[in-house]
Amino acid sequence: MIEDTIAAISTPPGTGGIGIIRLSGKDVFSIVNPIFRGKKNQDLSKVRSHTIHYGYIIDKESKKTIDEVLVMVMKAPNTYTKEDIVEINCHGGIVSVRKVLEQVLKMGARLAEPGEFTKRAFLNGRIDLSQAEAVIDIIEAKTDMSLSTAMDQLEGSLSHRIGEIREELLEIMAHIEAAIDYPEYDIEELGYDRVRKRIEEIRANIHRLLDTADSGKILREGVKTAIVGKPNVGKSSLLNALLREQRAIVTNIPGTTRDVLEEYINISGVPFKLIDTAGIRETEDVVEQIGVNRSKEIIESADLIIMILDLSTSLTEEDMYIMNLIENKKKLVLLNKTDLPAKLDKNEIYNRFTQNEILEISAKNREDIERLEETLKEMFMTGKINMEESIMITNLRHKDALIKADECLKDALSTIDMEMPEDCLSIDLTNAYKYLGEITGESVQDDLIQKIFSQFCLGK
Ligand code: GDP
Ligand code: ZN
Repeated sequence: MIEDTIAAISTPPGTGGIGIIRLSGKDVFSIVNPIFRGKKNQDLSKVRSHTIHYGYIIDKESKKTIDEVLVMVMKAPNTYTKEDIVEINCHGGIVSVRKVLEQVLKMGARLAEPGEFTKRAFLNGRIDLSQAEAVIDIIEAKTDMSLSTAMDQLEGSLSHRIGEIREELLEIMAHIEAAIDYPEYDIEELGYDRVRKRIEEIRANIHRLLDTADSGKILREGVKTAIVGKPNVGKSSLLNALLREQRAIVTNIPGTTRDVLEEYINISGVPFKLIDTAGIRETEDVVEQIGVNRSKEIIESADLIIMILDLSTSLTEEDMYIMNLIENKKKLVLLNKTDLPAKLDKNEIYNRFTQNEILEISAKNREDIERLEETLKEMFMTGKINMEESIMITNLRHKDALIKADECLKDALSTIDMEMPEDCLSIDLTNAYKYLGEITGESVQDDLIQKIFSQFCLGK
Protein backbone atom coordinates (compact mmCIF):
# COMPACT_ATOMS: atom_id res chain seq x y z
CA MET A 1 0.00 0.00 0.00
CA ILE A 2 1.45 3.34 -1.08
CA GLU A 3 1.13 5.85 1.73
CA ASP A 4 1.70 9.30 0.35
CA THR A 5 -0.18 11.44 -2.14
CA ILE A 6 1.72 12.88 -5.07
CA ALA A 7 1.12 15.96 -7.19
CA ALA A 8 2.65 17.49 -10.31
CA ILE A 9 1.93 19.81 -13.18
CA SER A 10 0.97 17.35 -15.90
CA THR A 11 0.78 19.71 -18.86
CA PRO A 12 4.00 20.36 -20.79
CA PRO A 13 6.07 23.25 -19.50
CA GLY A 14 5.71 26.67 -21.01
CA THR A 15 2.60 26.18 -23.09
CA GLY A 16 -0.56 28.14 -23.40
CA GLY A 17 -3.38 29.29 -21.24
CA ILE A 18 -4.41 26.22 -19.30
CA GLY A 19 -2.44 23.91 -17.13
CA ILE A 20 -3.38 20.81 -15.20
CA ILE A 21 -2.25 19.78 -11.75
CA ARG A 22 -2.69 16.10 -11.16
CA LEU A 23 -2.88 14.51 -7.71
CA SER A 24 -2.95 10.83 -6.89
CA GLY A 25 -3.16 8.99 -3.60
CA LYS A 26 -5.32 8.28 -0.63
CA ASP A 27 -5.39 11.85 0.70
CA VAL A 28 -6.35 13.72 -2.45
CA PHE A 29 -9.73 14.79 -1.09
CA SER A 30 -8.50 15.97 2.29
CA ILE A 31 -5.81 17.92 0.44
CA VAL A 32 -8.05 19.57 -2.16
CA ASN A 33 -11.29 20.08 -0.18
CA PRO A 34 -9.96 22.85 2.10
CA ILE A 35 -8.64 24.94 -0.81
CA PHE A 36 -11.51 24.38 -3.24
CA ARG A 37 -14.59 26.59 -3.25
CA GLY A 38 -17.23 25.02 -5.46
CA LYS A 39 -20.65 26.48 -6.15
CA LYS A 40 -22.35 24.23 -3.68
CA ASN A 41 -19.39 23.90 -1.31
CA GLN A 42 -19.53 20.18 -1.82
CA ASP A 43 -17.18 17.61 -0.36
CA LEU A 44 -15.32 16.24 -3.37
CA SER A 45 -15.00 12.83 -1.78
CA LYS A 46 -18.79 12.56 -1.87
CA VAL A 47 -19.36 13.44 -5.53
CA ARG A 48 -19.78 10.82 -8.21
CA SER A 49 -16.61 9.48 -9.79
CA HIS A 50 -15.51 10.89 -13.12
CA THR A 51 -17.32 14.21 -12.75
CA ILE A 52 -16.13 17.76 -13.27
CA HIS A 53 -16.71 20.60 -10.82
CA TYR A 54 -16.47 24.31 -11.39
CA GLY A 55 -15.07 26.60 -8.70
CA TYR A 56 -12.06 28.43 -7.30
CA ILE A 57 -8.78 27.46 -5.67
CA ILE A 58 -8.07 29.70 -2.73
CA ASP A 59 -4.98 30.32 -0.65
CA LYS A 60 -5.69 28.56 2.63
CA GLU A 61 -4.05 31.23 4.78
CA SER A 62 -4.91 34.51 3.05
CA LYS A 63 -8.24 33.16 1.74
CA LYS A 64 -7.50 34.95 -1.52
CA THR A 65 -8.60 33.40 -4.80
CA ILE A 66 -5.71 31.97 -6.80
CA ASP A 67 -7.53 30.85 -9.92
CA GLU A 68 -10.81 29.86 -11.46
CA VAL A 69 -10.66 26.12 -12.04
CA LEU A 70 -12.39 22.98 -13.21
CA VAL A 71 -11.74 20.06 -10.91
CA MET A 72 -12.06 16.53 -12.19
CA VAL A 73 -12.66 13.78 -9.65
CA MET A 74 -11.76 10.19 -10.48
CA LYS A 75 -12.09 7.61 -7.77
CA ALA A 76 -10.12 4.43 -7.28
CA PRO A 77 -9.85 1.91 -8.74
CA ASN A 78 -10.85 2.97 -12.25
CA THR A 79 -8.10 5.55 -12.70
CA TYR A 80 -4.69 5.86 -14.30
CA THR A 81 -2.90 4.91 -11.07
CA LYS A 82 -5.72 2.81 -9.56
CA GLU A 83 -5.71 5.40 -6.76
CA ASP A 84 -8.02 8.35 -6.15
CA ILE A 85 -7.10 11.08 -8.61
CA VAL A 86 -8.00 14.75 -8.73
CA GLU A 87 -7.05 16.92 -11.65
CA ILE A 88 -7.22 20.68 -11.31
CA ASN A 89 -7.56 22.55 -14.61
CA CYS A 90 -6.30 26.10 -14.16
CA HIS A 91 -7.07 28.89 -16.56
CA GLY A 92 -4.75 31.61 -15.38
CA GLY A 93 -1.55 30.56 -17.13
CA ILE A 94 1.69 29.22 -15.79
CA VAL A 95 1.91 31.50 -12.75
CA SER A 96 -1.38 30.37 -11.28
CA VAL A 97 -0.60 26.76 -12.17
CA ARG A 98 2.53 27.04 -10.03
CA LYS A 99 0.62 28.71 -7.22
CA VAL A 100 -2.02 26.01 -7.17
CA LEU A 101 0.72 23.38 -7.08
CA GLU A 102 2.31 25.23 -4.18
CA GLN A 103 -1.01 25.13 -2.31
CA VAL A 104 -1.51 21.39 -2.73
CA LEU A 105 2.08 20.79 -1.60
CA LYS A 106 1.44 22.95 1.48
CA MET A 107 -1.64 20.85 2.15
CA GLY A 108 0.53 17.74 2.36
CA ALA A 109 0.96 16.39 -1.15
CA ARG A 110 4.48 15.45 -2.22
CA LEU A 111 5.91 16.62 -5.53
CA ALA A 112 5.89 13.62 -7.86
CA GLU A 113 9.08 12.35 -9.40
CA PRO A 114 9.26 11.97 -13.18
CA GLY A 115 7.14 9.00 -14.21
CA GLU A 116 5.77 8.45 -10.73
CA PHE A 117 2.10 8.35 -11.78
CA THR A 118 2.90 5.66 -14.33
CA LYS A 119 5.08 3.89 -11.78
CA ARG A 120 2.08 3.72 -9.45
CA ALA A 121 -0.02 2.30 -12.25
CA PHE A 122 2.66 -0.37 -12.52
CA LEU A 123 3.09 -0.97 -8.77
CA ASN A 124 -0.68 -1.11 -8.30
CA GLY A 125 -0.86 -3.74 -11.02
CA ARG A 126 -2.85 -1.84 -13.61
CA ILE A 127 -0.16 -2.11 -16.29
CA ASP A 128 3.00 -4.16 -16.66
CA LEU A 129 6.48 -2.84 -17.27
CA SER A 130 6.41 -3.05 -21.08
CA GLN A 131 3.16 -1.10 -21.05
CA ALA A 132 4.66 1.53 -18.78
CA GLU A 133 7.58 1.86 -21.15
CA ALA A 134 5.12 2.33 -24.01
CA VAL A 135 3.88 5.46 -22.23
CA ILE A 136 7.31 7.06 -22.68
CA ASP A 137 7.36 5.97 -26.30
CA ILE A 138 3.95 7.50 -26.95
CA ILE A 139 5.07 10.81 -25.53
CA GLU A 140 8.19 10.73 -27.64
CA ALA A 141 6.80 9.18 -30.82
CA LYS A 142 8.37 10.73 -33.89
CA THR A 143 5.89 9.65 -36.57
CA ASP A 144 2.40 8.15 -36.83
CA MET A 145 3.95 4.75 -37.36
CA SER A 146 6.06 5.03 -34.22
CA LEU A 147 2.98 6.16 -32.34
CA SER A 148 0.80 3.28 -33.42
CA THR A 149 3.48 0.75 -32.48
CA ALA A 150 3.74 2.30 -29.04
CA MET A 151 -0.05 2.33 -28.68
CA ASP A 152 -0.18 -1.39 -29.47
CA GLN A 153 2.40 -2.01 -26.81
CA LEU A 154 0.46 0.05 -24.29
CA GLU A 155 -2.63 -1.99 -25.07
CA GLY A 156 -0.65 -5.05 -24.12
CA SER A 157 0.06 -6.79 -27.41
CA LEU A 158 3.67 -7.51 -26.46
CA SER A 159 2.77 -8.49 -22.90
CA HIS A 160 0.20 -10.90 -24.25
CA ARG A 161 2.65 -12.57 -26.63
CA ILE A 162 5.31 -12.87 -23.93
CA GLY A 163 2.67 -14.27 -21.60
CA GLU A 164 1.81 -17.00 -24.09
CA ILE A 165 5.44 -17.98 -24.50
CA ARG A 166 5.96 -18.11 -20.73
CA GLU A 167 2.80 -20.18 -20.32
CA GLU A 168 4.15 -22.72 -22.78
CA LEU A 169 7.49 -22.84 -20.95
CA LEU A 170 5.75 -23.30 -17.64
CA GLU A 171 3.91 -26.31 -18.96
CA ILE A 172 7.11 -27.98 -20.09
CA MET A 173 8.72 -27.13 -16.76
CA ALA A 174 5.82 -28.66 -14.88
CA HIS A 175 6.25 -31.96 -16.71
CA ILE A 176 9.94 -32.01 -16.00
CA GLU A 177 9.44 -31.14 -12.34
CA ALA A 178 6.99 -33.99 -12.08
CA ALA A 179 9.61 -36.33 -13.50
CA ILE A 180 12.13 -35.11 -10.94
CA ASP A 181 9.78 -35.27 -7.95
CA TYR A 182 8.15 -38.56 -8.84
CA PRO A 183 10.75 -40.84 -10.38
CA GLU A 184 8.01 -43.32 -11.13
CA TYR A 185 6.55 -40.69 -13.48
CA ASP A 186 8.82 -41.33 -16.39
CA ILE A 187 10.18 -38.38 -18.34
CA GLU A 188 10.31 -40.73 -21.26
CA GLU A 189 6.55 -40.61 -21.22
CA LEU A 190 6.72 -36.96 -22.12
CA GLY A 191 9.65 -37.82 -24.33
CA TYR A 192 12.78 -35.75 -24.75
CA ASP A 193 11.97 -35.53 -28.45
CA ARG A 194 8.67 -33.88 -27.71
CA VAL A 195 10.34 -31.51 -25.25
CA ARG A 196 12.98 -30.67 -27.83
CA LYS A 197 10.33 -29.92 -30.41
CA ARG A 198 8.40 -27.64 -28.10
CA ILE A 199 11.55 -25.74 -27.13
CA GLU A 200 12.42 -25.31 -30.78
CA GLU A 201 8.97 -23.89 -31.43
CA ILE A 202 9.39 -21.42 -28.60
CA ARG A 203 12.75 -20.35 -29.99
CA ALA A 204 11.19 -19.82 -33.42
CA ASN A 205 8.61 -17.56 -31.78
CA ILE A 206 11.31 -15.58 -30.02
CA HIS A 207 13.25 -15.25 -33.25
CA ARG A 208 10.20 -13.91 -35.03
CA LEU A 209 10.00 -11.18 -32.42
CA LEU A 210 13.72 -10.49 -32.57
CA ASP A 211 13.49 -10.09 -36.34
CA THR A 212 11.39 -6.99 -35.81
CA ALA A 213 13.93 -5.38 -33.51
CA ASP A 214 15.89 -3.49 -36.18
CA SER A 215 12.79 -1.88 -37.65
CA GLY A 216 11.42 -1.39 -34.17
CA LYS A 217 14.46 0.51 -33.05
CA ILE A 218 14.20 2.71 -36.12
CA LEU A 219 10.54 3.45 -35.45
CA ARG A 220 11.27 4.34 -31.86
CA GLU A 221 14.54 6.19 -32.18
CA GLY A 222 14.76 7.14 -35.85
CA VAL A 223 17.50 6.33 -38.35
CA LYS A 224 20.49 8.09 -36.91
CA THR A 225 21.89 9.88 -39.96
CA ALA A 226 25.12 11.87 -39.85
CA ILE A 227 25.64 14.51 -42.53
CA VAL A 228 29.38 14.80 -43.05
CA GLY A 229 31.69 16.80 -45.29
CA LYS A 230 34.35 19.46 -45.05
CA PRO A 231 33.24 23.04 -44.30
CA ASN A 232 31.10 24.75 -46.95
CA VAL A 233 30.12 21.67 -48.93
CA GLY A 234 26.49 22.39 -48.04
CA LYS A 235 25.68 20.32 -44.95
CA SER A 236 23.50 22.96 -43.33
CA SER A 237 21.88 23.79 -46.66
CA LEU A 238 20.97 20.15 -47.14
CA LEU A 239 19.51 19.92 -43.66
CA ASN A 240 17.42 23.01 -44.36
CA ALA A 241 16.31 21.71 -47.74
CA LEU A 242 15.15 18.45 -46.18
CA LEU A 243 13.37 20.26 -43.40
CA ARG A 244 11.60 22.64 -45.75
CA GLU A 245 10.18 19.74 -47.71
CA GLN A 246 8.66 18.49 -44.54
CA ARG A 247 4.97 18.69 -43.87
CA ALA A 248 5.38 17.35 -40.38
CA ILE A 249 8.52 18.20 -38.53
CA VAL A 250 8.10 16.44 -35.28
CA THR A 251 10.75 17.74 -32.98
CA ASN A 252 13.55 20.17 -33.10
CA ILE A 253 16.43 19.66 -30.74
CA PRO A 254 19.30 22.11 -31.05
CA GLY A 255 22.54 20.30 -30.36
CA THR A 256 24.52 20.93 -27.25
CA THR A 257 27.39 22.42 -29.18
CA ARG A 258 27.27 25.12 -31.81
CA ASP A 259 28.53 22.67 -34.38
CA VAL A 260 26.09 19.84 -34.08
CA LEU A 261 22.45 20.22 -34.86
CA GLU A 262 19.82 17.52 -34.72
CA GLU A 263 16.46 17.49 -36.45
CA TYR A 264 13.88 14.81 -37.08
CA ILE A 265 12.28 14.36 -40.47
CA ASN A 266 9.55 11.95 -41.39
CA ILE A 267 9.84 10.03 -44.64
CA SER A 268 6.80 7.84 -45.21
CA GLY A 269 6.45 7.15 -41.52
CA VAL A 270 10.12 6.41 -40.94
CA PRO A 271 11.74 8.94 -38.66
CA PHE A 272 15.23 10.05 -39.63
CA LYS A 273 17.29 11.84 -37.04
CA LEU A 274 19.57 14.09 -39.06
CA ILE A 275 22.77 15.32 -37.48
CA ASP A 276 24.74 18.13 -39.09
CA THR A 277 28.31 17.57 -37.97
CA ALA A 278 31.02 20.15 -37.69
CA GLY A 279 33.62 20.24 -40.43
CA ILE A 280 35.81 17.26 -39.82
CA ARG A 281 39.51 17.91 -40.22
CA GLU A 282 42.67 17.25 -38.36
CA THR A 283 43.32 20.33 -36.37
CA GLU A 284 45.59 21.75 -33.73
CA ASP A 285 42.98 24.09 -32.38
CA VAL A 286 41.76 22.71 -29.06
CA VAL A 287 38.25 24.10 -29.23
CA GLU A 288 37.79 22.90 -32.76
CA GLN A 289 39.23 19.52 -31.79
CA ILE A 290 36.36 18.97 -29.41
CA GLY A 291 33.89 19.44 -32.25
CA VAL A 292 35.91 17.13 -34.44
CA ASN A 293 36.03 14.39 -31.84
CA ARG A 294 32.31 14.65 -31.40
CA SER A 295 31.85 14.31 -35.14
CA LYS A 296 33.91 11.14 -35.09
CA GLU A 297 31.78 9.77 -32.28
CA ILE A 298 28.65 10.60 -34.20
CA ILE A 299 29.97 8.81 -37.30
CA GLU A 300 30.83 5.80 -35.15
CA SER A 301 27.31 5.50 -33.78
CA ALA A 302 25.34 6.51 -36.89
CA ASP A 303 23.08 4.08 -38.75
CA LEU A 304 23.66 5.98 -41.97
CA ILE A 305 26.17 8.53 -43.27
CA ILE A 306 25.32 11.15 -45.86
CA MET A 307 28.66 12.24 -47.23
CA ILE A 308 28.63 15.50 -49.17
CA LEU A 309 31.21 16.57 -51.73
CA ASP A 310 31.30 19.96 -53.43
CA LEU A 311 31.17 19.60 -57.23
CA SER A 312 32.48 23.12 -57.68
CA THR A 313 35.85 22.43 -56.02
CA SER A 314 38.44 19.73 -56.58
CA LEU A 315 38.91 16.99 -54.04
CA THR A 316 41.04 18.00 -51.09
CA GLU A 317 42.92 16.12 -48.43
CA GLU A 318 40.05 16.83 -46.09
CA ASP A 319 37.63 15.05 -48.42
CA MET A 320 39.98 12.07 -48.54
CA TYR A 321 40.30 12.05 -44.79
CA ILE A 322 36.54 11.98 -44.33
CA MET A 323 36.10 9.31 -47.00
CA ASN A 324 38.53 7.08 -45.12
CA LEU A 325 36.75 7.72 -41.87
CA ILE A 326 33.45 6.42 -43.23
CA GLU A 327 34.94 3.51 -45.17
CA ASN A 328 32.97 0.82 -43.36
CA LYS A 329 29.72 2.64 -42.73
CA LYS A 330 26.40 2.35 -44.51
CA LYS A 331 26.39 5.47 -46.64
CA LEU A 332 25.00 7.65 -49.36
CA VAL A 333 27.18 10.05 -51.37
CA LEU A 334 25.88 13.44 -52.47
CA LEU A 335 27.58 15.56 -55.09
CA ASN A 336 26.30 19.00 -54.25
CA LYS A 337 26.12 22.29 -56.16
CA THR A 338 25.07 20.91 -59.56
CA ASP A 339 24.11 24.50 -60.42
CA LEU A 340 27.77 25.58 -60.43
CA PRO A 341 30.44 24.75 -63.03
CA ALA A 342 31.98 21.41 -62.09
CA LYS A 343 35.58 21.14 -61.00
CA LEU A 344 35.42 17.83 -59.23
CA ASP A 345 36.41 14.72 -61.14
CA LYS A 346 33.12 12.84 -60.86
CA ASN A 347 34.53 9.63 -62.32
CA GLU A 348 36.92 9.33 -59.45
CA ILE A 349 33.97 9.37 -57.07
CA TYR A 350 31.85 6.94 -59.09
CA ASN A 351 34.82 4.58 -59.29
CA ARG A 352 35.53 4.79 -55.63
CA PHE A 353 31.95 4.30 -54.41
CA THR A 354 30.76 1.53 -56.70
CA GLN A 355 28.81 -0.09 -53.88
CA ASN A 356 27.04 3.05 -52.79
CA GLU A 357 24.20 5.17 -54.00
CA ILE A 358 25.49 8.47 -55.46
CA LEU A 359 23.15 11.38 -56.11
CA GLU A 360 23.82 14.76 -57.69
CA ILE A 361 21.86 17.60 -56.13
CA SER A 362 21.69 21.29 -55.53
CA ALA A 363 20.90 21.81 -51.88
CA LYS A 364 20.64 25.54 -52.32
CA ASN A 365 18.09 25.34 -55.14
CA ARG A 366 16.45 22.31 -53.55
CA GLU A 367 16.93 20.34 -56.74
CA ASP A 368 16.56 16.56 -56.56
CA ILE A 369 15.80 16.63 -52.86
CA GLU A 370 12.75 14.47 -53.53
CA ARG A 371 14.90 11.88 -55.22
CA LEU A 372 17.12 11.91 -52.18
CA GLU A 373 14.09 11.31 -49.96
CA GLU A 374 12.96 8.45 -52.19
CA THR A 375 16.41 6.89 -51.91
CA LEU A 376 16.51 7.26 -48.15
CA LYS A 377 13.11 5.67 -47.90
CA GLU A 378 14.11 2.73 -50.07
CA MET A 379 17.29 2.14 -48.11
CA PHE A 380 15.30 1.64 -44.93
CA MET A 381 11.92 0.43 -46.06
CA THR A 382 12.40 -2.35 -48.58
CA GLY A 383 11.33 -5.48 -46.83
CA LYS A 384 12.72 -4.15 -43.63
CA ILE A 385 9.78 -2.60 -41.90
CA ASN A 386 7.52 -5.55 -41.92
CA MET A 387 4.03 -4.57 -40.91
CA GLU A 388 2.81 -8.15 -41.21
CA GLU A 389 4.19 -9.05 -37.82
CA SER A 390 1.89 -7.02 -35.68
CA ILE A 391 4.17 -6.90 -32.67
CA MET A 392 7.39 -4.95 -32.83
CA ILE A 393 10.31 -5.06 -30.47
CA THR A 394 11.18 -1.38 -30.21
CA ASN A 395 12.99 -1.38 -26.92
CA LEU A 396 16.60 -2.43 -26.45
CA ARG A 397 15.84 -3.75 -22.97
CA HIS A 398 13.21 -6.10 -24.38
CA LYS A 399 15.53 -7.21 -27.14
CA ASP A 400 18.29 -8.06 -24.66
CA ALA A 401 15.90 -10.04 -22.51
CA LEU A 402 14.68 -12.03 -25.54
CA ILE A 403 18.26 -12.78 -26.57
CA LYS A 404 19.11 -14.00 -23.08
CA ALA A 405 16.00 -16.16 -22.91
CA ASP A 406 16.88 -17.60 -26.29
CA GLU A 407 20.39 -18.46 -25.12
CA CYS A 408 18.99 -20.33 -22.14
CA LEU A 409 16.74 -22.29 -24.47
CA LYS A 410 19.72 -23.08 -26.65
CA ASP A 411 21.47 -24.40 -23.53
CA ALA A 412 18.39 -26.45 -22.79
CA LEU A 413 18.66 -28.09 -26.18
CA SER A 414 22.30 -29.02 -25.63
CA THR A 415 21.37 -30.34 -22.21
CA ILE A 416 18.95 -32.66 -23.97
CA ASP A 417 21.56 -33.58 -26.59
CA MET A 418 24.07 -34.52 -23.93
CA GLU A 419 21.41 -36.46 -22.08
CA MET A 420 22.15 -34.60 -18.89
CA PRO A 421 19.86 -35.01 -15.89
CA GLU A 422 16.43 -33.40 -15.88
CA ASP A 423 17.24 -30.84 -13.23
CA CYS A 424 19.85 -29.27 -15.54
CA LEU A 425 17.14 -28.87 -18.13
CA SER A 426 14.88 -27.45 -15.51
CA ILE A 427 17.46 -24.79 -14.60
CA ASP A 428 17.84 -23.70 -18.23
CA LEU A 429 14.11 -23.39 -18.68
CA THR A 430 13.64 -21.54 -15.40
CA ASN A 431 16.24 -19.00 -16.48
CA ALA A 432 14.54 -18.49 -19.84
CA TYR A 433 11.26 -18.02 -18.01
CA LYS A 434 12.85 -15.45 -15.74
CA TYR A 435 14.38 -13.43 -18.59
CA LEU A 436 11.06 -13.30 -20.41
CA GLY A 437 9.49 -12.08 -17.20
CA GLU A 438 11.85 -9.13 -17.17
CA ILE A 439 10.06 -7.74 -20.20
CA THR A 440 6.76 -7.49 -18.43
CA GLY A 441 8.33 -6.72 -15.09
CA GLU A 442 7.45 -9.91 -13.25
CA SER A 443 11.09 -10.58 -12.52
CA VAL A 444 13.02 -7.34 -12.32
CA GLN A 445 15.06 -5.63 -9.70
CA ASP A 446 14.00 -2.41 -8.02
CA ASP A 447 16.94 -0.41 -9.32
CA LEU A 448 15.99 -1.28 -12.89
CA ILE A 449 12.44 -0.14 -12.23
CA GLN A 450 13.85 3.07 -10.80
CA LYS A 451 15.97 3.57 -13.89
CA ILE A 452 13.12 2.99 -16.30
CA PHE A 453 10.77 5.43 -14.62
CA SER A 454 13.43 8.10 -14.32
CA GLN A 455 13.32 8.46 -18.12
CA PHE A 456 9.84 9.92 -17.91
CA CYS A 457 8.96 13.58 -17.92
CA LEU A 458 7.36 15.19 -14.90
CA GLY A 459 3.66 14.77 -14.42
CA LYS A 460 3.35 11.43 -16.21
P1 GDP B 1 28.33 23.60 -44.54
O1 GDP B 1 29.48 24.35 -43.99
O2 GDP B 1 28.76 22.30 -45.09
O3 GDP B 1 27.19 23.49 -43.59
O4 GDP B 1 27.83 24.43 -45.82
P2 GDP B 1 26.60 25.44 -45.92
O5 GDP B 1 25.33 24.70 -46.06
O6 GDP B 1 26.70 26.42 -44.83
O7 GDP B 1 26.91 26.08 -47.33
C1 GDP B 1 28.11 26.79 -47.57
C2 GDP B 1 27.87 27.73 -48.74
O8 GDP B 1 27.58 26.99 -49.92
C3 GDP B 1 26.70 28.66 -48.52
O9 GDP B 1 27.03 29.91 -49.04
C4 GDP B 1 25.59 28.02 -49.33
O10 GDP B 1 24.67 28.95 -49.81
C5 GDP B 1 26.37 27.42 -50.48
N1 GDP B 1 25.68 26.30 -51.08
C6 GDP B 1 25.16 25.21 -50.45
N2 GDP B 1 24.58 24.38 -51.35
C7 GDP B 1 24.71 24.96 -52.55
C8 GDP B 1 24.30 24.61 -53.89
O11 GDP B 1 23.68 23.58 -54.14
N3 GDP B 1 24.62 25.50 -54.88
C9 GDP B 1 25.29 26.66 -54.64
N4 GDP B 1 25.54 27.45 -55.68
N5 GDP B 1 25.68 27.01 -53.43
C10 GDP B 1 25.41 26.19 -52.37
ZN1 ZN C 1 27.00 24.20 -41.55
